[in-house]
Amino acid sequence: MLECDVKSGWTQFIEFIENRCSAAEFQNWIAPIELIDSSLEKITIQVPNIFVKEYLLDNFKEILADFLPLQSNGDPAIVFQIAVEEKPILSMPNLHEVEEPAISQLRLNPLYTFENFIEGPSNQFVKSAAFGIAARPGKSYNPLFIHGGVGLGKTHLLHSIGHYVQEHHKKQKVQLITTESFINDIVDALRSKSIDKMKRYYRTLDVLLIDDIQFLQNRLNFEEEFCNTFEALLNQNKQIVITSDKPPTQLKLSERMVARMEWGLVAHMSIPDLETRVAIIKHKSETRGLNIPNQIAFFIAEHIYNNVRQIEGAINRLSAHSRLMSTQMNEEVVEKILSEMFQGNGPMKRISVEEILKSVAAVFEVRISEIKGESRHKEIALARQVAMYLAKEMIDDSLMKIASSFGGKTHSTLLHAWKKISDQIQMNETLRKQVQMVRRNIEN
Ligand code: ADP
Ligand code: MG
Repeated sequence: MLECDVKSGWTQFIEFIENRCSAAEFQNWIAPIELIDSSLEKITIQVPNIFVKEYLLDNFKEILADFLPLQSNGDPAIVFQIAVEEKPILSMPNLHEVEEPAISQLRLNPLYTFENFIEGPSNQFVKSAAFGIAARPGKSYNPLFIHGGVGLGKTHLLHSIGHYVQEHHKKQKVQLITTESFINDIVDALRSKSIDKMKRYYRTLDVLLIDDIQFLQNRLNFEEEFCNTFEALLNQNKQIVITSDKPPTQLKLSERMVARMEWGLVAHMSIPDLETRVAIIKHKSETRGLNIPNQIAFFIAEHIYNNVRQIEGAINRLSAHSRLMSTQMNEEVVEKILSEMFQGNGPMKRISVEEILKSVAAVFEVRISEIKGESRHKEIALARQVAMYLAKEMIDDSLMKIASSFGGKTHSTLLHAWKKISDQIQMNETLRKQVQMVRRNIEN
């Protein structure tokens, strides 16, 4: 490879990506990257922060490898420089100037800290983003938007950020609100004619943590006030973190609000895999002074799989029982105590990669061996990506393990395929139907 080829390899990569991601994604993630230097062996690029680096490697490592020089392990040879951001010095609010109105003082739950948060592949990215923001509020992504199903730890992370900022940035003013309490505060303020005071108060915050933004839907009168506060803070580089049960685009909110929320980092939290659930069970039971043998922890984790709050409920119940009874804890006893909590008729139906391959091969009319192979033929590559997408959606196992069942692919290839298909099925009706068909065949 010639030196000028390395440089044009990078330009070609950028062009290639531009045609394959949304304009917003390109603007947010790719456009800020600067090429600093290139030689025969490597390129050096500057990224605004660690998240852009992670984004690039998580999503495009293999594509980058096609365009750039390689390291001995086959990874693209990129040296990352993290830009040092210049941030205007925040004028600290003068507390005597700003009279504190009657704002819901939501106290932070002492148990919801980063230390008590168990990491796994389903939440690692969100956790590191949350931690990055807590460590340097207003200096990385703004806003951070965390979405995911009920009981997966969104509120826990939001409080963790609050604790961390209170402890490490003592001068910064943090407020944690639920969307409902924000609305109630506005109503009260309107009633007591103190709405200006309230507005002023919110605009002095350094970090605003907003829980459950979905409750702002269909509250048109409040949405505008919310959006104004939101923009005022963002314009001053104040940190905002939002949680929601849906991604921004699926919320029934104004375009202006959705665009604002999408501007920073939108991070998804999914259901923790089996090992992570077991780790959560061990951690939670230890803090309650309860000793749950491994085998029982696995037994519970296999039966309660889509909600950590329910897992906690199960531990509380076991803990109460173990205090009253002296019976030895075994699967039978545990099942009796927890029977109503166990979902469906038994453990989650175990689906194998082979079943997925078989069904994808049938619907997409390709061979299983082709899906597992290396061919880049368009139809085969699509079938392979659909199979990877479904494997990540339907199989309760670590990404690494799933990826290796596809003829030794890496977990970033799997994530890349998953993201690509998730995006495509939003837009492509035929593909969506095909994927649904495969899914139904597997489930039956
Ligand atoms: P959400 O806001 O997503 O509905 P919460 O943050 O309220 O969920 O979490 C529900 C319960 O599960 C909380 O008690 C929280 O501590 C616990 N929890 C969720 N995820 C984790 C995790 N990864 N590690 C430890 N505890 C967790
Ligand atoms: Mg919550």
